[in-house]
Amino acid sequence: MTPQPRLSSVATTRIERAGIDDIAVKVHAGERLSYDDGVRLFNTPDLTAVGALANLVRERLHGDVTYFNRNIHINATNVCEASCIFCSFARLEEGMAAAYTMSVDEAVGRIDALKDAFITEVHIVNGLHPGLPFSYYTDLLKALKKARPDLHIKGFTAVEMHYYAEKYGMTYEQVITALRDAGLESMPGGGAEIFHDRARKKLCHDKVDADGWLEVHRVAHGLGMRTNCTMLFGSIEKLDERVDHLVRLRELQDESLAAKALDPSLGSFQTFIPLKFHNENNRLAGIAAPTGHDALRTLAVSRLMLDNIPHIKSYWIMLGMQIAQVSLSYGASDLDGTVREERIYHMAGARTPQSLTRTELIQLIRSAGRIPVERDTHYNVVAEA
Ligand code: SF4
Repeated sequence: MTPQPRLSSVATTRIERAGIDDIAVKVHAGERLSYDDGVRLFNTPDLTAVGALANLVRERLHGDVTYFNRNIHINATNVCEASCIFCSFARLEEGMAAAYTMSVDEAVGRIDALKDAFITEVHIVNGLHPGLPFSYYTDLLKALKKARPDLHIKGFTAVEMHYYAEKYGMTYEQVITALRDAGLESMPGGGAEIFHDRARKKLCHDKVDADGWLEVHRVAHGLGMRTNCTMLFGSIEKLDERVDHLVRLRELQDESLAAKALDPSLGSFQTFIPLKFHNENNRLAGIAAPTGHDALRTLAVSRLMLDNIPHIKSYWIMLGMQIAQVSLSYGASDLDGTVREERIYHMAGARTPQSLTRTELIQLIRSAGRIPVERDTHYNVVAEA
């Protein structure tokens, strides 16, 4: 039997001194943490104490294993009629500086260029383009699938799904089914931002609200699709609004897992990804970017609160490679992938490279004392590195 991970005596002392030993008792017992526990974890000064608890859960679930995959990002258009104030990627109209929309052939060309490279996934996220027909998206999926049937297509945030439903007069179920029939296999978690009304109204008043975002994922899970979920942190939200966000994701996952227990073909959340706010080239440029300390704490509290979501991803593109590496001891068990052609966060000032090689990712993981495991989108092991 594999021995259960334990806290070191130093960690136990720090947890006691931080006054969170009652939370540690719950974590040891595998009990659910409350909303109030989450708020306390965000406010406890000792990050190391919180991190040690998150690491305990991470090692209980995954040992030293750290997952990554080989993927490419395609952002087919950045034309978007929404006006999220944290966004540096979108352009309101075609013809504006840096606005672009790929033709289907151009998008296929991106993956054709990688035909000799081993990748397993294409990740597609787009702006809310007011002038494209719905067939643009189904044609895009069909063409990508025809060019590379071996690639798993993960794409279209709940924000996009909701926009298509409203724009083309379809239900969420009709949108998801049509995209799935064209080749879509799973959904990313983007667009969740912060669910709490106060912050959401300021950040992104004209895109889907929290209930709509959750409903799209509820419908996708009901159609058997696995999805991811996210939270944008470090802009104007309060710490208790982050906890509210995590609790709402946990509640939906409870529902989806209960349904899945009766019908294993249904979907659920696979991975939670905290997305760090970047403060360049957007209307929140006056706000300081979140610190590494805040990023590590957010990952750690997420691991502790989201007891029903298997994976916490440290998205190195946004966090930076050093924080992503350290986060492997603060609750994170996934580093995303090689990621080619990332645009959304680089337009917001991310200084990270636009891609990493498999060797670089493996080195990053190994030198943190963890075991790199290459996965596909559904966490099937592709290769132990
Ligand atoms: S975050 Fe998404 S929906 Fe909002 S403006 Fe940017 S591209 Fe559009």
